[in-house]
Amino acid sequence: MAEPIDHRLRPAIITVDDDPSVSRAVARDLRREYGAGHRIVRGESGEQTLEAMRELKLRGEQVAVILADYRMPQMNGIEFLEQAMDIFPFAKRVLLTAYADTDAAIAAINVVDVDHYLLKPWDPPEEKLYPVVDDLLDSWNRSDHSAVPETKVIGHRWSSRSFEVRDFLARNRVPYHWYSTGEAEAGRLLEAADLTEDTALPVVVTADGEVLIEPSDAVIAERVGLATNPTEDFYDVIVIGGGPAGLGAAVYAASEGLRTVLIERSATGGQAGQSSRIENYLGFPDGITGTQLAERARRQAMKFGAEVISARDVDAVDVEGAARVVRFVDGGTVSAHTAILATGVTYRQLDAPGLEPLTGRGVFYGAATTETMSCAGEDVYIVGGANSAGQAALHFAMRSRSVTILVRGSSLRASMSSYLVDQIEAKENITVRSGTTVAEAHGNEHLEGITLLDARSGEKESVAAQWLFIFIGAAPRTEWLDEAVLRDDHGFVFAGPDLLTDGRRPRGWRLERDPYHLETSVPGLFVAGDVRAESVKRVASAVGEGAMAVMLVHRYLQKL
Ligand SMILES: Cc1cc2nc3c(=O)[nH]c(=O)nc-3n(C[C@H](O)[C@H](O)[C@H](O)COP(=O)(O)OP(=O)(O)OC[C@H]3O[C@@H](n4cnc5c(N)ncnc54)[C@H](O)[C@@H]3O)c2cc1C
Repeated sequence: MAEPIDHRLRPAIITVDDDPSVSRAVARDLRREYGAGHRIVRGESGEQTLEAMRELKLRGEQVAVILADYRMPQMNGIEFLEQAMDIFPFAKRVLLTAYADTDAAIAAINVVDVDHYLLKPWDPPEEKLYPVVDDLLDSWNRSDHSAVPETKVIGHRWSSRSFEVRDFLARNRVPYHWYSTGEAEAGRLLEAADLTEDTALPVVVTADGEVLIEPSDAVIAERVGLATNPTEDFYDVIVIGGGPAGLGAAVYAASEGLRTVLIERSATGGQAGQSSRIENYLGFPDGITGTQLAERARRQAMKFGAEVISARDVDAVDVEGAARVVRFVDGGTVSAHTAILATGVTYRQLDAPGLEPLTGRGVFYGAATTETMSCAGEDVYIVGGANSAGQAALHFAMRSRSVTILVRGSSLRASMSSYLVDQIEAKENITVRSGTTVAEAHGNEHLEGITLLDARSGEKESVAAQWLFIFIGAAPRTEWLDEAVLRDDHGFVFAGPDLLTDGRRPRGWRLERDPYHLETSVPGLFVAGDVRAESVKRVASAVGEGAMAVMLVHRYLQKL
């Protein structure tokens, strides 16, 4: 007799389309490929399918992927996915559209953060449907999709270190549950760990039940299972920085057989990881969130054999004979034939009285996506006129009551891409205040108000504000590099032809050749991405430079 099937071991793939023949065809194609390991659940309306999903939830079953048709009467695919997310937040989401619907779907795509966007018809499924579903299942299987995340963080609502810990976990894709002091559950958890609310917070309780009091990022990383130590003493190439340039370099280096280790001080993704939607990266016509792009790149690098080390900060690269020795701030070294510097840039701090002590307590640099839900229904202020500020404004506008962009210049058009300005102008709850800066921030425990300065009239206005996100340009933090690594006045690293003055090689350069294109003034130390002098500050160029640096590493290694 056949064994009874335990459905809980077979996650479901859901498909909903109001056209029964299409719905049946999708289900048939899915069943053929995935039927053995998955339940295929088919629906012909949003309401009916949501009901079926609620039942699955009640029975403790899991949903891995949801494919929803865009054009459905009563409830379209986007509205359906929005509600489906509340039931199975970790399920991967795919929107099926006809070609003619592309624009409408793209316009609404931000609402549900779809993982993929599939044009109908998808024939042959082997080419158009299965690779997409394979990729999503793979990513779902790798993530912790259990309904109750196991790592717990207990802290004060407005503590900047609590924010940093949550941000660190989120950016490293570690699922966690946040408990704010004052909540009964927070007290219960502290009591269970023999602690009180007087204990130094935040406290992190790992999935294994280990209690960490005020842990550093490195300790958290180690205890939640992120790699924090290189496994070898010597590599072909060390990549410093895990943004697009570093990830690009790691993917190409490892895929070409170089022994590769990437060292990242916080979480892979860099600035791009903070972008709510990158719309101009080649190959993603409907955009991709920075977190998704970073996660895919990290997996790709690891698939090829690169080691990815998190939460380790580099503060020196030394030359010891033919080796390049990378030193960590918290001690220890790792060596290689070559190193690629891909440390990008960091947000500049805004200089106004009151801001510094409130940073992390209502004042944030960058999008701080961990706080998105906390801002729901509230008023948000954003400082900056570049694309990063525009993306954040659109992102927060989805849930916040109002978003006010404060921009020093006379209009956004001078500094922001027009596709973003158009979207901002179309949003009713976004206001742009040009010619305006923040003169002061007020608040005790957390931000309570800001004083705005009108540059034209010189008038000041105080407004109540709990949320201020600042995007005012960025600077490379390269002070730690040896002075032999030549930089411009702002700290950006010179490479290749930029090192030659009237055809003369840089001081101290002893080789019988000019520095290669992305080689710094230290032979065997290369640079890629935003940290390079004169670089184009874009994801695509950073990835491209990462790949190109690897090609030059090969050339360097051949001549060793
Ligand atoms: C909010 C936002 C939205 C954006 N949107 C877009 C967009 O839509 N399209 C686009 O093309 N570009 C966009 N950009 C710009 C793009 O993200 C950057 O050009 C790109 O990320 C640069 O990549 P990078 O690898 O050179 O540097 P970064 O992304 O800055 O990454 C550098 C990495 O190095 C790490 N690091 C730094 N110092 C050390 C050290 N000493 N030791 C170890 N690790 C270190 C950092 O933690 C970081 O992870 C956006 C930027 C932001 C901030």
